[in-house]
Amino acid sequence: MKIICIGRNYTDHIKELSNARPESPVIFIKPDSAVLPKEQDFYIPDFSNNIHYEVEVLVKIKKVGKHIEEQFASKYYDEISLGIDFTARDLQAQLKEKGLPWEKAKGFDGAAVIGHWVDKSKFGDLNNINFALVKNGKTVQKGNTSLMLWKIDALIAYVSTFFMLKKGDVIFTGTPAGVGKIESNDYLSGVLEEQELFTVKIK
Ligand code: ZN
Repeated sequence: MKIICIGRNYTDHIKELSNARPESPVIFIKPDSAVLPKEQDFYIPDFSNNIHYEVEVLVKIKKVGKHIEEQFASKYYDEISLGIDFTARDLQAQLKEKGLPWEKAKGFDGAAVIGHWVDKSKFGDLNNINFALVKNGKTVQKGNTSLMLWKIDALIAYVSTFFMLKKGDVIFTGTPAGVGKIESNDYLSGVLEEQELFTVKIK
């Protein structure tokens, strides 16, 4: 499986990192080795002094597709979740400055937290789902999918013009504002419409 991540999909987060609003979705890939195994703690890697959490809504692809039209995109997924796109922000800043790919800052081992999957039929409107990241008991990120610049179906259509989507692929749909640094002993949990879908301990 592959993990396709969308960058700069919420206006408030674009502003907090002083990035330009993109004309089309920003895409990058994490390898499958980036998935943090379930119930495993996240170890801060030696190569970074500034690992950030980014909570994001996830979509799991259920069948092969390419050049998917937006109007048919919903046939390609049944399950939604929440995860974290861990980012070595210091390393990413260096790579961005040099115009180099972000992979080292985004695709390292454990950099993709994937929560429990929930059937999409549980939600009335997928484009109006609330989600949050709670750190040590305090809400640090809050979002709603209505605030995405490109919604789930538009992302699937766009992504599938470049990459064939396969069963089991996961799309990370971008993070809202409030990203921040993790420290050892932090405890993170992701909440989608009142339901806790993951917890992660930082070591
Ligand atoms: Zn992200």
